[in-house]
Amino acid sequence: MAEPVPPSFYAKVRSGPCVYCGAPGEHVDHVIPLSRGGIEHPSNLVSACGPCNHSKRSRLLWQWTPSKVAHAVESSPEVRAIWLADGSTLQSQLIAKQLSAA
Ligand SMILES: [Zn+2]
Repeated sequence: MAEPVPPSFYAKVRSGPCVYCGAPGEHVDHVIPLSRGGIEHPSNLVSACGPCNHSKRSRLLWQWTPSKVAHAVESSPEVRAIWLADGSTLQSQLIAKQLSAA
């Protein structure tokens, strides 16, 4: 299991604007949802407003509203890294992180 992300990190992420639309952040979104193989790790956590978090739910980036994803790719290094990684690279990164945290 990955190490737990400290609550202070969650608070810091949440204090930023929503990476998907720029509205005040209210939630911490897992860019790759936990239910889709995403991990509890700072590289997978971004700020999201209520409407965006609700709309995205358990979708992967390429399954969601392109304009919001584009905004996030511009505004968030975390989202950009995930967006730019192809599936196999991403999968191997996730596996490597999980192994190093085990
Ligand atoms: Zn938003």
